[in-house]
This record gives sequence, C-alpha cells and structure tokens, in this order.
Amino acid sequence: MRSLVIIVFIILSTVTAGAAQMKLSPGRRYRTIERLAPERLAAVAADRAALRRARRKVRLSHGLADYRAILHAHAGDSTHTGGTREELLTAARRTGVKVILLTDHVRPPRDFINDSWRGLHEGVLFIPGSEGEGFLNYPSRSVIDHYLRKDQKSREDYVKMITANGGNIFLSHVEERYDWSTAGLDGLEIYNNHSDMKDEFEFVGWLRGALTNPDRLKLLNSLLARYPLEVFGALQDYHAPTIAKWDRDLLERPLTGVAANDCHHNQVYEIRAVAADTIEISIIGDPPRRVTTTQIPAIAPLLEGRRAGELLARVDLDPYESSLQFVTTHLLLPKQEGLTEAAVRQALRTGRAYVAHDWLGDPTGFAFVAARSGRRVGVMGAQIPLTTALRLRLEAPLPGTIRLFHQGALIAETTGRSLEHLVSKPGVYRAEIWLQIDGEERPWIYSNPIRVE
Ligand SMILES: [Zn+2]
Ligand SMILES: [Zn+2]
Repeated sequence: MRSLVIIVFIILSTVTAGAAQMKLSPGRRYRTIERLAPERLAAVAADRAALRRARRKVRLSHGLADYRAILHAHAGDSTHTGGTREELLTAARRTGVKVILLTDHVRPPRDFINDSWRGLHEGVLFIPGSEGEGFLNYPSRSVIDHYLRKDQKSREDYVKMITANGGNIFLSHVEERYDWSTAGLDGLEIYNNHSDMKDEFEFVGWLRGALTNPDRLKLLNSLLARYPLEVFGALQDYHAPTIAKWDRDLLERPLTGVAANDCHHNQVYEIRAVAADTIEISIIGDPPRRVTTTQIPAIAPLLEGRRAGELLARVDLDPYESSLQFVTTHLLLPKQEGLTEAAVRQALRTGRAYVAHDWLGDPTGFAFVAARSGRRVGVMGAQIPLTTALRLRLEAPLPGTIRLFHQGALIAETTGRSLEHLVSKPGVYRAEIWLQIDGEERPWIYSNPIRVE
C-alpha cells in the first residue's frame, strides 16, 4: 500500500513538474517559487538598479503630458477589502500615481458614484466607479436607480447605460470572458494582477506552508522587507490568450488596453496564539483557521513563551504601495488642459494610453507616434490615413527588446531604445517592450495601437 502511495506520488509529481515546465509563460526561465529564492531576488534588484542608471530622457516627443493612473482599485468597498481610500491616497502620493479610477463592489443602496470620492484629493484625481456585470464601470452620473429597481437589462443596454453622457466601460477579468463581445466598450483589461495570480497553485501552497513553518515564515518576512517589489513582482506573467483576444477584437474596432491592479490590500495574514498548543491564522475576508502542535509539531517554537491572544507574526503581501508600482496605465493628456476628469475620460476612450510594469523601470516619456517627413501626424490611439512615407516611430527611456505587431502578427523586432518602421500596409499597429531581468525577459510596456486606414 505504502509503495503504491509512493508510486502515485512520483507519477503525480512528474506530471505536475512536467505541466509546470510546459506552461511557463513567455520569457520565463524560472517558476514563481524559484523567483523567490534570495539570490534570484537579489539579482532582480541589481538589474533594476542597473536599468535605473541606464535611464535616458526620451527625445521623441508625443507632445502630451504623461500621467500615471490606476484602474480597478478597491478601497473600503467590501468585507474582503483591507485598505481604505485614505490609505490608497497616501500610497498614490508616494508612488507618483496621479489618477485613481475606483471600482467598488456594488452594494446598494450605497451609491458608488455619489457616496465616493470624486475630484482632486491632495493632487490625486479620483474617479468613482464599480466592478460588476463583467466590466469596470465608470458612468459619469449615478446609476443607483438601476440597482434599486433591480432592472433586468440586456448586456447591450447595460453598456449603453454606463457610457451615456461620456461614461467609460472596460471588459474586466478577460480570462473568464474570451467569448464576450467588445462592441460598445472603450476597451479591456490587457493585464489583471488578480488574473495573473489564479494559476499560482505552487506559490499558494508554498505560502500556506510558510504560515506554519517558523523558519520559512521568518525568511518570507525578511524577503518582503528587503525586496518588497521583487517579491510582489515574482508572479508576473504575459497573458497570451488575453492579448490574443485584444488583437482579434482590434480588427473589428478600436479598443483601449488598460491595466487592472485589482488591489484590495487584503493579502494580510495574522498568526495569533490562542492556547499553549494552538495558533490561529487569519486573513481578511475568510474564516480563521486553527492549527495545533499535534497537527503540525513544527509550529511549537512560534508559541514558546507566548500568551493567549498575542500576535505571533504578520505577513503583509500586498500593501497598496507595492500594488500601485507593480502595474499602471499611463495616460497622455493635453498639456494645456491639466489633470481633469474630462481629459482622463477622453484619453481612456481614444487609446492615448499605455500599460507598464513600472516596478521594472520608470517608462515615463515612452512615445509611439506616426510621422511623415519628420512631422508627427498621430500618437497612440490615433486613426490615420495611409500615405507615402508614413513612418511609425517608437522610443523608450530604457533599452529592451522592442516588438512591433501588425494585425496581431509580429513584423519587427529589435534590441535597444528605439524603432522605426516604414508603413506600407493599412491595419492595426501596436508595440511591446520587454526587459532583460536576471536572465529572463519580462514584459515592461504595452502600447495602445495606431490604426492606419
Ligand atoms: Zn474584490
Ligand atoms: Zn476587483
């Protein structure tokens, strides 16, 4: 019987190891728990520092002002959310985030528009909204009546309700909705931090184990203190099926790609002593779990000399300051207009934006433009006619691997800070830049497209 168990175990672990190998996302050499090894984290930190030193101001101008924005942010909006709006604001000020588009979980009769923050708070522009019906919803006026009346609307009518009078709407959690139509939408989440977490079974198992393993717990907390962004960023992947949907749907209509932080500040574990032989592990939004020294003898050192009720350890995996630096949507707004809700809504609607993993390197200044005879004729999001001598030009403040896509297919690739392409065909052009970090290629910038007609 025992040998059968061992054989089954060997087969299962071979299968899992094989599957893990097979599904390493593009650019990866290491699995997430491998990326969390102290020497890997140190190497990532060193490469980030080297990139900071290599940073050069972008000379190619898009003529607009670059603002760091966060879409899909939760604060004080549910029992499973740990963070507050005040806390989110503090993190935004520390990380240079200038725009926060909130996405409350809908809880009628609370009105997610009128009972929230709207406008400038200490220099950070807040736009209220919700996550619901599969979308990020940013209506320009309250839609509380829809919920109070318990309206049954078709998806099409719902989209019309949100976008009436200049509201914005994006498809959210695309990994659950590849077959949904994007007609009538402003765009979709091309990266979602929470979606990226969903396949991290191995990491979640490792983390759960750490909570009842005093040595691993100590190591995890020291790594979080020393390498907060490197630990947070260890799960970063490239979501090829989501990007493929974006490419497919872009053939039909303009769609702005945005990043979803999906931040809640709720990945906070607390371990308390409840009796001489029992600990309680709690996480926001879930019932606490009790573990005794009979079940897991290894927890005994945690309890030594501690009184009932005492906090033994706390692991904070997702402070807003980390999630806000991990991924952002940069918006390009007219310089003379300044930071206004109308300008933000317009940039989101027209694709004057790009997604970036800021933690790898500051992308501010990144430019992707169309030019003719040395004159700029369009920026990201533009729709321009095909003429002779039309060129696409791209420049970034850091060197990386630049990839240019036409109708979803890779047509040019180069290493460096800039790329130029003579346009001979109409269609949708977009770019990605990947950075070399600790021997891996990691996605850094996703431009929004320029359409040539
Ligand atoms: Zn939530
Ligand atoms: Zn969410």
